[in-house]
Amino acid sequence: MVPAGVAAYHLGPAATWLSTVRRWVPALAGQGRPDHVALTFDDGPGPGSTPAVLSVLEALDVRATFFVLGAELARRPELGRAVCAAGHELAVHGWDHRWLLGRPFPRVREDLARCRDLVADLTGRPPVWFRPPYGVLTGDALLAARSLGLRPVLWTAWGRDWAATATARSVVEAVTPGLSGGATLLLHDADHASAPGAWRSTVAALPHIAALAAARGLAPGPLSEHGVGAPRGPSREEDAHPPRFTPVPSASPAESR
Ligand SMILES: [Zn+2]
Repeated sequence: MVPAGVAAYHLGPAATWLSTVRRWVPALAGQGRPDHVALTFDDGPGPGSTPAVLSVLEALDVRATFFVLGAELARRPELGRAVCAAGHELAVHGWDHRWLLGRPFPRVREDLARCRDLVADLTGRPPVWFRPPYGVLTGDALLAARSLGLRPVLWTAWGRDWAATATARSVVEAVTPGLSGGATLLLHDADHASAPGAWRSTVAALPHIAALAAARGLAPGPLSEHGVGAPRGPSREEDAHPPRFTPVPSASPAESR
């Protein structure tokens, strides 16, 4: 549940308010069980990029949640089916990568409903989760999501993998401070709203992120297994983990973006 005080506002860009969300509405931020890390990918499916992400996840034997864009999924339904067939979870990012501020409620609801219905048709399972583009959750979007049975969730840590300057190393370093029990990681499996080819840094970073999670005793997986809203263990408080950086081996994914 999201307190009305949070839901009622048209909130600003994620970076400016996520710390408040994490503190007051941990379930909305994606805070889960203390031995688990939710791995989430936004903006797909993308040709080339989504198959590359799926391939790495298969090699790592890790499953994740993919927040898809309905318009992209409609263009490439086979990719959506591949994501589902590999055991991953599909979720709603929107119909297109649209800023929801100022968009009327009926249009927002229609966008989400189209994406939800397409996911359900393709996979045989109605999606559970909704994450708005840019992490900007308006009151209308929240109401629309609820009316469609979608549960809004944002993230607690990100890889900044959308930037033109992103490298595997930069993605790992961006994720590292927040890679603690219950974290929800935001990554991207398409460059629809990112620098062209930025997903290559994500793909190269994934094995290192998985290794880092394992070293911290955390199992990566989809939001459906994350126990979103579960109480946080006292020994796993995010702030109790100082940033620790695991060197990226010199086979240098840092050079691939
Ligand atoms: Zn996005």
